Amino acid sequence: MAIAATPITQGKNLLDLLRQTVPPQERAIELYRRLLAINNLSGLMGSAKSVDQLHDFLGEYFQECFHDEQTRLCIVEGSHYRRLCLSGAPVPKLENYVPITHGMAGSVLKSGTRLWIPDTKASDKKGKLFRANTESLPRSILIIPFWARGKVIGCLEMTSNRPDRLDEIEYHLGTIVATHLSASLDNILTRQELASANARLKDHDQRLSQLNEKLKQLAHTDESTGLYNKRRLLEQLDMEIARARRYGEVFSCFMIDIDDFKSINDRYGHQAGDDVLKQTGKLLCQSLRKSDFIARYGGEEFTVLLPRTNGAGAYRAAENLRSNFMSHAFTLPSAKVRITISIGITSCTIFDRLDARRIIRRADDALYRAKRSGKNRVCFNDENESSEEKVRILSNA
Ligand code: GH3
Ligand code: MG
Ligand code: MG
Repeated sequence: MAIAATPITQGKNLLDLLRQTVPPQERAIELYRRLLAINNLSGLMGSAKSVDQLHDFLGEYFQECFHDEQTRLCIVEGSHYRRLCLSGAPVPKLENYVPITHGMAGSVLKSGTRLWIPDTKASDKKGKLFRANTESLPRSILIIPFWARGKVIGCLEMTSNRPDRLDEIEYHLGTIVATHLSASLDNILTRQELASANARLKDHDQRLSQLNEKLKQLAHTDESTGLYNKRRLLEQLDMEIARARRYGEVFSCFMIDIDDFKSINDRYGHQAGDDVLKQTGKLLCQSLRKSDFIARYGGEEFTVLLPRTNGAGAYRAAENLRSNFMSHAFTLPSAKVRITISIGITSCTIFDRLDARRIIRRADDALYRAKRSGKNRVCFNDENESSEEKVRILSNA
């Protein structure tokens, strides 16, 4: 069907048209009422947050002004357009989602040009507008496209069975509504784009902080055993020292070394040695309290910080740990092996010279003492009395 728009009368505007209408006062009142309704509509459309809301506001306007005519809001969706009822009979199911190549609205959406035929029969008589059968056509047609982001994204489709119902005044009023509609849609699209950009940014932020958290975790973790590493240990030790100074709390520190670990590597291979180190980490976690801080100091040496634990408590924990290792069989692919550990303990109070390196050195000295006195044992470091003496006193306590 080839359709052409009737040209608009040159030089005429709403005011000229108003002057020519008879009787002018009635028409003027009607026009004033319509302009007020459009003004109200434009305010509402400016605040619309979605196309659905626009549809509602337009529906109210068209039901008020065109309740006896068919008006539709057509919205482009890819290669189709959706036809939504604004006033008049509901859109039949087959006509509510139409390929863009179909219908009068389709030709407007494709060309971006308004279609306005005040009286289709009169136009047909002139033989200019329709080659196809005009019987099924409405008598008066006005279809106005609207744009967003420089693209035709829909049109307002008004049809009537009364000739000249969609006259030049309706043409102008419809154009004003379509202009407001374009501006509101642009607004809605901008808001939607902003909202999705914000959501993307938020998602990005979340992933970044997850990565940062992971990075932080990696920087503080010993890869092989999953325990804390030496760097994290020194940070934690500083925290324990600060707590001891502030609240006068006592805490203890273990330095643990696997006895004769080299022989495991020599006998079963380096990989087996790694397995034993991993299982050692697990057994340490299982044997100690949740509040204890366990780190791999390096090689086959581990450090434990025991908050709020005095010498006696530390000694009991160390002995329990030592006996757990003695009774545990470590599983290797080729064998089950048993290992023993030596533990050096130092306990710290507010009266000690609290310094991280010094505390580690004291625990290390105690460990050396345990190794020298035959391995598989627990020794204290105490600068005031011999560790053997302290162990003896504590054991008898
Ligand atoms: P001691 O009872 O005196 O502590 O004897 P030891 O054999 O345990 O100690 P030594 O210092 O002689 O040897 C420690 C061994 O631990 C040597 C080294 O190859 C091994 N080792 C250190 N780190 C790792 C590791 O990550 N994986 C494995 N498989 N072996 C390690
Ligand atoms: Mg060792
Ligand atoms: Mg060692």
